[in-house]
Amino acid sequence: MHALLVEDDDRMAQALGTALAQRGHTVRRVDRALDALLHLREAQFVLLDLGLPDLDGLELLRRLRTVCDAPLIVVTARCEERDIVQGLRAGADDYVVKPFRMAELMARIDTVRRRTARRTDPAGGAVGGPDAAGSGPGGARTVCSGDVEVDPAGRTVTVAGREVALTRREFDVLAFLAVRPDEARSREEILDRIWGDAFLGSSRSLDVHVAGIRAKTGRPDLVRTVRGFGYRLGLARPPAEDAERGAR
Ligand code: CA
Repeated sequence: MHALLVEDDDRMAQALGTALAQRGHTVRRVDRALDALLHLREAQFVLLDLGLPDLDGLELLRRLRTVCDAPLIVVTARCEERDIVQGLRAGADDYVVKPFRMAELMARIDTVRRRTARRTDPAGGAVGGPDAAGSGPGGARTVCSGDVEVDPAGRTVTVAGREVALTRREFDVLAFLAVRPDEARSREEILDRIWGDAFLGSSRSLDVHVAGIRAKTGRPDLVRTVRGFGYRLGLARPPAEDAERGAR
């Protein structure tokens, strides 16, 4: 597997790189968040330090998750419960606090890879189902719903072949729902992921952004409300389910 190691501490990066190489992984190490974004598409899994010089690691994690579904483990000195909860909510598959035991981290990497294999292996077909188009290793997939196409990597949305301009946050909400198009996402999860903190993020702001997505695409069913829970992508459904939806 090819690992992306995001770590600004040279000694830590060297120790991790050696341990990963011994287990047969190839490693790209970067020490800045912006370089991590550049090399994301080739990564089959990601180890992410949160204390980075150019961007907070949690903010980087949120940005990574709008374009990449690769298995990701946060490896950080931040050990407060709130940090861990935020890291997991922002999309980390596991969270390891420094100092850690190398063998344990390697075992956790194997566990996370096994657990996430279905969603990152295109042959497994679990992600996005029949509507999902191709993608790079662990990269974001173009998702189609009716005549709407969402390309998370290129950050474009087209309706009937014509590009629609969304604001950055509107796009982030839509792309987040598109990462796992078959799943509903809770309001709290979306707020945590896109706004950074469900307790600070305005809940109404989410509704406003969803309204913006529906209005600008002219496809009110593109984002469906899951009452009392959150939202999901409104994938075009077979007629039987359309009838069911009409009855809601
Ligand atoms: Ca650091």
